[in-house]
Amino acid sequence: MRYISTRGGPPVAIEQAIMGGTANDGGLYVPESLPAINLRSFDQATDLPDVALKFLEPFFAGSSLSGPLADLCRAAFSFPIPLRPLETAPGTLKVLELFHGPTAAFKDVGARFLAHAMERIIAADRANTGPVTVLVATSGDTGGAVAAAYHRRPGTRVVVLFPDGRVSPRQQHQLTCWGDNVTSLAVRGEFDDCQRLVKAAFADPVLRTRHRLCSANSINVGRLLPQAAYYAHASLLHWQATGRPLSFIVPTGNLGNGFACVWARRVGLPIGRIILATNANTTIPDYLATGQWLPRPSVPTLASAMDVGEPSNMERLRGLCVDVEAVRQEVSAMPVTDALIRTTIIDEYRRHRLAWCPHTATALHVYRELPAAERSARDWAVVATAHAAKFDTIVEPLLGVSVAVPPELAAILQRPTQVEHVDAELDELIAHL
Ligand SMILES: *Cc1c(COP(=O)(O)O)cnc(C)c1O
Repeated sequence: MRYISTRGGPPVAIEQAIMGGTANDGGLYVPESLPAINLRSFDQATDLPDVALKFLEPFFAGSSLSGPLADLCRAAFSFPIPLRPLETAPGTLKVLELFHGPTAAFKDVGARFLAHAMERIIAADRANTGPVTVLVATSGDTGGAVAAAYHRRPGTRVVVLFPDGRVSPRQQHQLTCWGDNVTSLAVRGEFDDCQRLVKAAFADPVLRTRHRLCSANSINVGRLLPQAAYYAHASLLHWQATGRPLSFIVPTGNLGNGFACVWARRVGLPIGRIILATNANTTIPDYLATGQWLPRPSVPTLASAMDVGEPSNMERLRGLCVDVEAVRQEVSAMPVTDALIRTTIIDEYRRHRLAWCPHTATALHVYRELPAAERSARDWAVVATAHAAKFDTIVEPLLGVSVAVPPELAAILQRPTQVEHVDAELDELIAHL
């Protein structure tokens, strides 16, 4: 399997797509052609790492990673991703809980897989000329997951940029508690400023070569593929139990998670509808409604990890489709205001005594808003992207109860922190590289 840029250009091996992050022409890497996967090939796959291995095999065929792929899957999918039944009337509602990893958000999956994949690629590189620098812009959760995944990994250092004051206190803790090969910079600006700085660094060939820059953002194909694997696992479980496809409602920011679900369905997994839940950053719902792609500055919301005004992975989704009508066949989208996020967190706690994070609340709200016929006609899974305890300062005052901290997160919160503040200027970033 080889990979091409969404903007054309020559195909490359997956090792190069992973280490390069974005293609030289600024496009995003996608498989040259999507494989077709026969569901029977999963018959012997019993657990999540096995299903992930079966799912990922064709994407890594012929690469240096195909041999170690089983080990990679065991290392990355080392925590459970349960599909928890929530309701049976008026229709089946389940929750896909993606938050049982070390930093309590779904980004642990992609970050861990990518870190292990890069480590192998670097170790196999005979021309190895010093450490690679993984440069990441984060709206909160990516940076923590990447820092945790790469911390003390040989051959790599990590520089994380996050918007100062725009991440939750516990997110900030996860970004700034590592040291060793991890540097975290609090940028005076928004997520989009952080992303702009990272893009500018990558666009500079001198910087890129001198620091051997690599990306670990959700644009990296090495993060998207393992994310598609958990949709494969969840939809297969549901299919084996019921003979019915599962439809997903995905909290969406940069569209990495939602797009991974589209890939899983495209290669043949039993997935029904895919609905993207956004916050007040409505670039995607507006595009689907009007046909006009109008990226814009992001606005801050309670679901801050989804504060993205220019969702990068839309380029991949549009690349799969001939026109906006075809995009509408793949996904629909609905925005959710902060006020509705708040009432949803409260209502869902009253209903089930369960606390959900603000991101997950967007998807739950979208589910509640579906026409009753649509809720009962299909089986639905709301995707829970982070643990509520990570957003305690938002969730606890709404509920008037404290949310128990999962042990992995508690361990991280024990670590001391250190942070550096910088202006949103490329020179300041360079000084820290
Ligand atoms: C990153 C993130 C999202 C958005 O995911 P994308 O892949 O950027 O669409 C949603 N919820 C949480 C908790 C996140 O960390």
